[in-house]
Amino acid sequence: MVHSTTPLQAAITHVGKVLAEEESQGYRNRAVIGGLGPFVREGLAPLRGALPTRAADDALAGIVGLLRDYETLSPTQRQPRLAAALKELRQLYRVVRDLGENDPTAQPRYIGPPANRKPKAPPKPKPPAAPRAAKVKDLTPVSPIGELPGVGEKNLSLLGMVGVRTVGDLLYRLPNRYMDYSQEYPIAHALFGSEGTVKGTVQSIESRPLPNKRHLVTAEIADDTGALTATWFSPYIAKVLRPGSQVVLSGTFSQRRGRLILDGPEWELLDAELLHTGRIVPIYGLTKGLYQKQLRGYVLRALDACADRLPEFDPEAVRQRARLPGIGDAIRAIHFPPDDATLAAARRRLGFDEFFLLQLGMQRRKRQWQQDAPGYAFKVDETAVRQFIAALPFALTAAQRRVLADIFADMRRPVAMSRLVQGDVGSGKTVVAAAAMLAVVAEGFQAALMAPTAILAEQHARTLERLYSALPEDARPHVRLLIGSTKAKERRLIAAGLLDGTIDILVGTQAVIQNGVEFARLGFATVDEQHRFGVVQRATLRAKGHNPDLLVMTATPIPRSLALTLHGDLDVSVIDELPPGRQAIITRAAKPDDRPREYMAIREEVGAGRQAFVICPLVEESEQIEAKAATAEWERLRTEVFPDLRVALLHGRMRPAEKDRIMTEFREREYDILVSTAVIEVGIDIPNATIMLIEGANRFGLSQLHQFRGRVGRGAAQSYCILLADEASRNAQSRLEAMVETQDGFVLAEKDLEMRGPGEFLGTRQSGLPEMKVAQLADVRLLETARREAETILDADTDLAQPEHQLLCERLRLFWHDGAGDIS
Ligand code: ADP
Ligand code: MG
Repeated sequence: MVHSTTPLQAAITHVGKVLAEEESQGYRNRAVIGGLGPFVREGLAPLRGALPTRAADDALAGIVGLLRDYETLSPTQRQPRLAAALKELRQLYRVVRDLGENDPTAQPRYIGPPANRKPKAPPKPKPPAAPRAAKVKDLTPVSPIGELPGVGEKNLSLLGMVGVRTVGDLLYRLPNRYMDYSQEYPIAHALFGSEGTVKGTVQSIESRPLPNKRHLVTAEIADDTGALTATWFSPYIAKVLRPGSQVVLSGTFSQRRGRLILDGPEWELLDAELLHTGRIVPIYGLTKGLYQKQLRGYVLRALDACADRLPEFDPEAVRQRARLPGIGDAIRAIHFPPDDATLAAARRRLGFDEFFLLQLGMQRRKRQWQQDAPGYAFKVDETAVRQFIAALPFALTAAQRRVLADIFADMRRPVAMSRLVQGDVGSGKTVVAAAAMLAVVAEGFQAALMAPTAILAEQHARTLERLYSALPEDARPHVRLLIGSTKAKERRLIAAGLLDGTIDILVGTQAVIQNGVEFARLGFATVDEQHRFGVVQRATLRAKGHNPDLLVMTATPIPRSLALTLHGDLDVSVIDELPPGRQAIITRAAKPDDRPREYMAIREEVGAGRQAFVICPLVEESEQIEAKAATAEWERLRTEVFPDLRVALLHGRMRPAEKDRIMTEFREREYDILVSTAVIEVGIDIPNATIMLIEGANRFGLSQLHQFRGRVGRGAAQSYCILLADEASRNAQSRLEAMVETQDGFVLAEKDLEMRGPGEFLGTRQSGLPEMKVAQLADVRLLETARREAETILDADTDLAQPEHQLLCERLRLFWHDGAGDIS
């Protein structure tokens, strides 16, 4: 007899080994990084739902529960917990082993027919016809939902609570997911562990009260090939089903003591048109008091009444080019898909619509402002620029040259430039901006550079001075800095200099766009670290000149798909190359146990005259609690760990001026170590800082870790980044591994998006974009198609004024106003 180990057995064995190890180590919660509680939860996660019996599932939950608060217990308290957990685990192992051949994670197999008889393949189901409800007259998508037959007072208000006011709202309220019950089996052939449907006759049915006031209904159902047991916790069912009733049951097949079971299956009487069974069944988001079956019934009636009356706002030509089904068919199929392919086509159509409306809105905005106010057509005299580039202490990278060429091409055109330059930290965006601004100044115009914080603005002003210093006196732009703390007298001088044109470039914070700051000839505006600036601020900056060219720079690399979506109103250039000779930052992942060693590493760097960052973990609850935690860490480090070193603190609850002061002092080497929360500025350039320790690294997203890491490795010395994880979940592990493996911000951003999804990736809903319900931001091809189609339409009809675009225009307005859901 061959013994083979199934994945379930392996998972249990692995957890068991760790528990045993913990026992032998004396309950110090050291057997595994991150502690036993999270480990067991993670390690046993694959078993959840995969276990053959409910008892086993309970045992699993029991083990996780026993060890949940393990870290908070004393070793004496831990001992009995661990013993109990081990006992349960052994039990679980035996159950899984005994039922080994039914382990669904091993090869799936039929149960029921004797092993020596080859099972007949289950009959191929014919795709169910779309269910039909009685014809409802005179309903349109804009009819109030109360007019839909069957919707009473109570459900009217419940539907209102989930945002359904019209019949159209209901149709655009899409299922969250589906259950695929389209596979129909003779009972004897039901595939263990899978979803499916059987038809049979009720043999017996009984309802038994349970101690907890509930009722357990158990029914025996049989067909020609075999029998199964179905259970529900609803006494109502025992009133409807009788011995002899013909039923259709859909659910997930399981097994108890060798008997086929359906726990809580969906059911319908055989003579009814199948809506909840025997097909791919939609599952909707509910609210208390609203039921799946009711909702499906409503949707069916609504579809029947007016799916064909849904306004088709996509122009025919667009639908043909992009090969999209009509809106009625798409909506019908997304609720009651006959098969996977039709469902996929429906999702594609609805996802396209979201992208399309998004792109139309953004591109229209861009065209409108270009149309309203034509920009300057600069000549861009390249001799001045060439002189500047030649005087630099380095040669521009190919990527820098390419992006500069993009910018110059834009500047020469008579429309205002709107270009986003994405470039990883250290890719040299500032030089590119400096060259572009120089070209503007050479033609007698002024330029502005705006940064999100005073410290970054100061840094930029200094950098520009340095970069321009190699130019001959008469070609050197006159740069001034305007920030919140600029004194009144200096402000007056700046105001005068801007008006009489003696100031060529103004660098600053928001102060630059305040009232009272007037330029004589503002021709070019640069915004650094764009994600901190809203569309409004950009617009205000533009209004300072007569529609100056706008250059937006960001070091937050975002995947192309997202860039197209978020910045549909901008053209995008990418500096996808770092200057040669950059030292790789040595990155390592570490465990809490390694702290003393890593503190030594910090000491060594400081001993060599360098500086260090310590980043505190992200605290979800509030900035206040985060500040408190950071303060505690700072106290600990400066009194216990590094009492002989100068340790500073930076957190989000400090006033901006205070933050700036700390950063300035750190730059001027008045501190050795800076303890900071995540507020540490993107773009801060302190070349003498060579080591960064990130606490709780597992709590940050990849892109953010990458941004942190970009704060070191900016000088000539070898730099280090230490990622200290306080939990060893598999996901966190692979994120940290990615950090160790690559320093390419775009690669990391793609990974991040993949791992966390766009919602979390973008953080708060700062983007101000309409909600996307169907479209997947990762679906670049569909996004590109939508972008192309939007361009084509707007090329022909910028204002969407033609009659055939009337519905689209209306729809566009609603999309940007109310989100995608409302079609009324
Ligand atoms: P970013 O703003 O894109 O993070 P910076 O513009 O601050 O990058 O440039 C980072 C550093 O690299 C600066 O010290 C800058 O002078 C230097 N640098 C820029 N371009 C080059 C290049 N082509 N070769 C060498 N060093 C460069
Ligand atoms: Mg920069």
